[in-house]
Amino acid sequence: MLRPQFVGSFPRADVSLDPPLPELALIGRSNVGKSSLLNALVGRRIARVSQTPGKTRAVNVFRIDLGSGEWGVVRDGENRPAVAHRQVPLPTPHAWYFLDLPGYGYAKASKTDRAAFQRLLVGCLDRARLAGVVWLLDIRRAPSEDDGAMQDLFAARQTRVLAALTKSDKLPQGERRRRERALAATLRLDADQAVVTSARTGEGVAELRDAIGALIGSTGA
Ligand code: GDP
Repeated sequence: MLRPQFVGSFPRADVSLDPPLPELALIGRSNVGKSSLLNALVGRRIARVSQTPGKTRAVNVFRIDLGSGEWGVVRDGENRPAVAHRQVPLPTPHAWYFLDLPGYGYAKASKTDRAAFQRLLVGCLDRARLAGVVWLLDIRRAPSEDDGAMQDLFAARQTRVLAALTKSDKLPQGERRRRERALAATLRLDADQAVVTSARTGEGVAELRDAIGALIGSTGA
C-alpha cells in the first residue's frame, strides 16, 4: 500500500526535508503524462493533471510510504515522552520523497524560465540523498534535443535512471515492445531500466512501482 503525502512546493532545490529519506526525481517533457502517471503510481489524485505548461518553476515534494498500513505511537525525540494519543504511521524501510520537477521542453518558455528550471534540475540531481530519477518519455516520440541534454546530465553524474515510457495505450500491443527496444537503444538504457506504462490502462504501473522499490532498497541512500 502506498501512502502519499504532499510535503510542499519549493522554488529552490536546496530545501531540507525532514525526516531525511531517499529521494527520487520525476523528470519529463511537459505533457509527457507525468502527473497522470504519478497519480496512477500512488493510486490517488495527488498531482494536478494538465497544469499550464511552463508555468511552474517549483519542485513539488511528495512523501511516499510503502508500508504495512500499521499505525502506532511514535516518540517525538529521545528524551521526550510519546505524545499521548498521537497516532502516526510507523516508519517503514520503504519510505521516500518524490521530487516532482516541472516539465521541460516547453517551446514558449522564456529564457528566465529555462534558466530557473536548469538551476532547479541540477540542484535536485546533486542532492546527497538522490537515489535516482524516474525519467518519463512518450513511447511514440523520438527523443528530442532536450531529452538528449537530459541524458547528458544524468550520464555526467552517473545518476541512476528508470525510464517510464508513457501513453502505451496509444500504440497497438505489438508496436509497444518494438518502440521500447528502439528507445532503450537510442538512450543507451538496459532492458531493465525501461518500463512500458499507461496511466490510462494501468499497464506497467505495478512493474514501475516494483522497480522504484528495488532502486530505493538497493541504494541505502
Ligand atoms: P504532464 O504535463 O507531464 O504532467 O502530463 P499530464 O499528466 O497532465 O497529461 C498530459 C495529457 O496527456 C493529458 O491530456 C492526459 O490526459 C494525457 N495522458 C496522460 N497519461 C496518459 C496515458 O497513459 N494515456 C493517454 N492516452 N493519455 C494520457
